[in-house]
Amino acid sequence: MPIAYDVVVLGLGAMGAAATYQLARRGARVLGIDRYAPPHEFGSTHGDTRITRIACGEGPEYTAFAVRSHQIWRELEAELGVELLTQNGLLVLFGPGQRAANHSVPEFLGATVDAAQKAKLAYEILDTAQIRQRYPAFNVADGDEAYHDDVGGFVRPERCVTAQLHRAKALGADLHLNETVISFDQAGGSVTVKTDKGTYHAQELIVAAGSWLPGFLKPALAGQFKVTRQVLYWFRAHGAREHAQFSPQRFPVYIWQVPAPQPIYGFPATGGLEEGVKLATEQDHTATTPAAVARAVGPDEIREMYETYVGPYFPGLSPICVKYKVCLYTQVDRARFIIDRHPDADRVIVASPCSGHGFKHSAGVGELLAQMALGENHQDIARFAFGYAPRSA
Ligand SMILES: Cc1cc2nc3c(=O)[nH]c(=O)nc-3n(C[C@H](O)[C@H](O)[C@H](O)COP(=O)(O)OP(=O)(O)OC[C@H]3O[C@@H](n4cnc5c(N)ncnc54)[C@H](O)[C@@H]3O)c2cc1C
Repeated sequence: MPIAYDVVVLGLGAMGAAATYQLARRGARVLGIDRYAPPHEFGSTHGDTRITRIACGEGPEYTAFAVRSHQIWRELEAELGVELLTQNGLLVLFGPGQRAANHSVPEFLGATVDAAQKAKLAYEILDTAQIRQRYPAFNVADGDEAYHDDVGGFVRPERCVTAQLHRAKALGADLHLNETVISFDQAGGSVTVKTDKGTYHAQELIVAAGSWLPGFLKPALAGQFKVTRQVLYWFRAHGAREHAQFSPQRFPVYIWQVPAPQPIYGFPATGGLEEGVKLATEQDHTATTPAAVARAVGPDEIREMYETYVGPYFPGLSPICVKYKVCLYTQVDRARFIIDRHPDADRVIVASPCSGHGFKHSAGVGELLAQMALGENHQDIARFAFGYAPRSA
């Protein structure tokens, strides 16, 4: 006889681990299933660090998730004695001339200011001279300016997943790792989930399959998602003196709409000279899948990254790439999240809060997903519906 659960969570990455933890905290009978053993390097939740921002230029509707996530991570830090969140400050840079949009927002600095004001956050605007004086690692051009706040910073994705799965298990969740969901079906007031190892029944199913999600949807819905290959790079500073400029005490996380085909974003150094300094750009033109994506990065790709996006903006970084990671975005038009009930199965919740900016919200989104599954959600989440169309669009 298959085991019956209140909720099955399909996928235990950033969103699924958070949802499973929150369900277990609420005393639900929950089963979390993952085809690998998270944290792993095949999806969207690896690479040591993720930027976190309370002032979200993507839209003020995201702020509450980030605020709640910070609270949850601080609680987990206290409970488990791990370091998850570092608030070393956020810089959002912009300047004159042609600049590519960031997450579909043409002028991300202005949108960030708007979100900060709505969130009643303290922030400051730095002119070129102030940026140069405070953060000499950035080679800004005359006329560049920056938004700065003290609450932004970075969070550790692998540690967050581990912490939440650890707590979920301690609170009674069943976790089935290295088990692949083949299909799910809603009938007779419950959902049946079939895997390569068994069959499970649940009152509700949360599908948090990341870049694998389109494979579970009919073409009309799957077509709303575009999976893209992204590369994270770690470049070595020229020497110890230059590396010190990138320490978390002296260097914030940043998003910079540089005068190049794409914006860049990056982090302070989290290790020594030989571990490099992490930064990246984004690409959204070529679609892929988790099965087909090229996971290697060749010397030409590294050289192009350095020449276009690294050397001109960070003279302290050398062309030596000490590490790279290939990672996947699941993108929706206008960098939106989808968090909605499946249109053909009302006991199935589909969670795709990515579009390249989901991690900072993941602990709060996990709580929302748990509340939805248990019939306890009172938030208005119409903006995250499959068919949501803003009036201005
Ligand atoms: C390069 C990169 C940089 C990013 N930078 C930032 C940032 O700075 N700040 C920020 O806030 N966000 C950032 N993001 C976005 C953020 O990391 C993602 O939104 C988030 O990690 C997505 O989590 P997820 O749970 O949806 O997907 P995943 O973590 O990939 O989880 C999906 C899980 O589903 C499992 N699964 C899939 N199919 C099956 C199946 N059939 N059966 C069982 N299990 C299955 C997979 O194994 C996987 O573990 C970045 C993303 C990338 C790729």
